[in-house]
Amino acid sequence: MALIKDNWRHWVSSRSQQASLASSLLAGFAGMAMLVDADGVILSVNPGFARYSGHPAHTMLGRRVTCLDVDPLHGDIGRALASSLARRSIWRGVLQCRRADGQILHQQGVFQPLDTRPGESLRVLVTLHDITDLYQGALRDHARLESLQGTLDRLPDVVFQLCQSARGNLEFRYLSAGLQALAGLAPHSVMNDAETLLARIEDDDRQRLDTALAQSAVSLTPLVLECRLALGDDACWIEWRASPRRYHDGDTLWDGVLLDISTRKREEQRVKKLISTDMLTGVLNRRAFFDYGEAVRALAARHGRAVPIAMLDIDHFKRLNDTYGHAAGDLALKAFAATSRDCLRPYDLFARIGGEEFAVMLVDTSPVEARIVLERLRAAVEEIRLDVQGEMLGVTVSLGLAVMPPQGSLELALSRADEALYRAKHKGRNRLVPAPGYPEPDGLTR
Ligand code: GH3
Ligand code: MG
Ligand code: MG
Repeated sequence: MALIKDNWRHWVSSRSQQASLASSLLAGFAGMAMLVDADGVILSVNPGFARYSGHPAHTMLGRRVTCLDVDPLHGDIGRALASSLARRSIWRGVLQCRRADGQILHQQGVFQPLDTRPGESLRVLVTLHDITDLYQGALRDHARLESLQGTLDRLPDVVFQLCQSARGNLEFRYLSAGLQALAGLAPHSVMNDAETLLARIEDDDRQRLDTALAQSAVSLTPLVLECRLALGDDACWIEWRASPRRYHDGDTLWDGVLLDISTRKREEQRVKKLISTDMLTGVLNRRAFFDYGEAVRALAARHGRAVPIAMLDIDHFKRLNDTYGHAAGDLALKAFAATSRDCLRPYDLFARIGGEEFAVMLVDTSPVEARIVLERLRAAVEEIRLDVQGEMLGVTVSLGLAVMPPQGSLELALSRADEALYRAKHKGRNRLVPAPGYPEPDGLTR
């Protein structure tokens, strides 16, 4: 090692080698190199000078270097030289100069005052290296970026880049201007602090977002998630769609879009309501009762809870129809459904499952409580008075009640409730009959 160092010192210190290095550098330098005096008068130029400046070398010797300036009186070269001389130090920067044919060039310039011995006049080594192509390329790239930025900002949706560090911190690296219209937030405020946006996501959805991000980061599969975003007193639905990339330092970066899907969500909810609602009475229809009922059954089974289920059938309905007409029958159906619904809690399932047949699933209600609630419902129905052609008509209902055990089936519980309903009819109607074995208030079974 020491040997190499010694050889190196020897090589560098050899004056003839240095002179040869200097002349090789000057000969090979792809630009203009000049030696100028303190007044900027050109004393010598490099071999490539003529090629890069367009001026024959001999025509420039003795002229001021500022003649290469675009404006010889107030040009970049004049300023750079003055600055370098004033501070007796290197000036580096980009400047413009003019070729002999008039073409304006961008140059990477270095103005280096040279060490002088006492009595020697000051000289400056000027090198100008053409970067016109590079400069124009950068200008074109900049223009392209600006136009792309404009396109992104004009998009109705929000383009984003989200980074999650290996420690789990989230940071938006980019958000397009659409965020202002979507969430009323300035992109830069969210780029400074992601929580400005994330804190507005509803609690359940925030948890789902965290889970979805974790899954997407682990499996490197696209992130697709719908969530609700609070906007003051209002809220909107947004959809996240993004593709993840993993960096070696453990960071995960998602490129994606945030879409406002409020209109689609409203339409979905409207259609969902439409297909699950009975048009005449506005309560759930048969199909929805079995769909939602299955979900209630699964949840109750998981918690080991029994669910009370009842079948309801309006008494002598055919007679009402036959005597007062179909419209009177419809009126009775609507009044019956509204009164019954009022006697139940919002999350109990109440549905019209046939002509004048209804079903109830009482969620989170004990069999004893269910019996009380339904007895109250029966009594409320008995109070209904329908104004039909000036006549006040009453209506009654018979109910069969059964309990669906924690691991039982919905169909079986309904058929047991139906059998109990049949017995209620048989016993004289306008009454509630529990299925055999239904729990009694004192805990004894019949
Ligand atoms: P019960 O007390 O034994 O239940 O006798 P019911 O007359 O109520 O029973 P039934 O099943 O014999 O009659 C049901 C009637 O309900 C027959 C049908 O015309 C009528 N119905 C079914 N759907 C509608 C409807 O949407 N509107 C009206 N107005 N009537 C309907
Ligand atoms: Mg019937
Ligand atoms: Mg009936």
